[in-house]
Amino acid sequence: MLFGPTIAGSLPKPGWLAETGKLWPRWRLEGEDLDRAKRDAALIWIKEQEDAGIETVSDGEQFRTHFVHGFLETVQGIDWSLKTRMGIRDNRYFVDVPTVTGKPRRSRPVHRDEAAFCRLHTRNGLKFTLPGPMTICDTLADGHFGRRADMAMAFAEILNEEALELEAEGVDTIQFDEPAFNVFTDDVREWGIAALERAARGLRCATAVHICYGYGIEANVKWKETLGAEWRQYEAIFPAINGSSIRQVSLECANSRVPISLIELLPDKELLVGAIDVASNTVETAEEVAATIAEASRHADAARIFPCTNCGMAPLSRDVASGKLRALGAGAALARARRGS
Ligand code: ZN
Repeated sequence: MLFGPTIAGSLPKPGWLAETGKLWPRWRLEGEDLDRAKRDAALIWIKEQEDAGIETVSDGEQFRTHFVHGFLETVQGIDWSLKTRMGIRDNRYFVDVPTVTGKPRRSRPVHRDEAAFCRLHTRNGLKFTLPGPMTICDTLADGHFGRRADMAMAFAEILNEEALELEAEGVDTIQFDEPAFNVFTDDVREWGIAALERAARGLRCATAVHICYGYGIEANVKWKETLGAEWRQYEAIFPAINGSSIRQVSLECANSRVPISLIELLPDKELLVGAIDVASNTVETAEEVAATIAEASRHADAARIFPCTNCGMAPLSRDVASGKLRALGAGAALARARRGS
């Protein structure tokens, strides 16, 4: 489908599943009740995405509290009680993070059963998101490796094991979330892309990397104010990403100071163009979404453009997120109609 929409990943959790409006919410239930509630929430969002015309849907990350730690919870080699205060994303904010004390190993498949459940309940394309190796390294303290590049490669190996299992369950797109790519642009070229390709090794399904300016939380809003009139971080990394084996790049455009012309640096990639602002509670109109798609079409072939959200919608209210899903689907349909196909 021309301009077939998808989403970056997360959606808000219903109030009966977890605390709302938080990036690190607590679950409201436990044990089997919690497992069932997570599946129920994923079903609701799959249905809402389908009804909104989203071509490639996700579980909305209903199965994990945080996009990085949710994957790492059952991974061995991390001491969760040994907290280290660390500046994340180049000291944009400070968090007490768990510490890596040995080589990481998966104690069990993390998201396999969840992916199988979602596959059973949609005929649309299915996307599953995983944290990228560099972003993992920027969210854990290193008490073992000594070099971030080595730590990233070790996590890339277990991400790859996980990704291959997700693919085997019928997942169509595996996306690695790398918000850290916009911060450590030299490291991206030196080892970040190599780690990403290691994580994606052997996958035949679509692979994507999501690089954004983050959720609309206060620390990010303040950081963005320091970035000047034009945000050109993508310029430093897109040429190298274009040379990589990753098929799709999910990037931020809507209401952002990213010059959309930077997508010209990705001539060989499919582009998940952010047409929904996740840092605002204002629901876009279909017209606004179509305008973002049209603007992107001036810099890349239409066939490579897939409208998307700028980032995850986890911190928004359910109603706002639902409205934005419908705007995304309607805007894509409008853009498609205008191209006469
Ligand atoms: Zn993001």
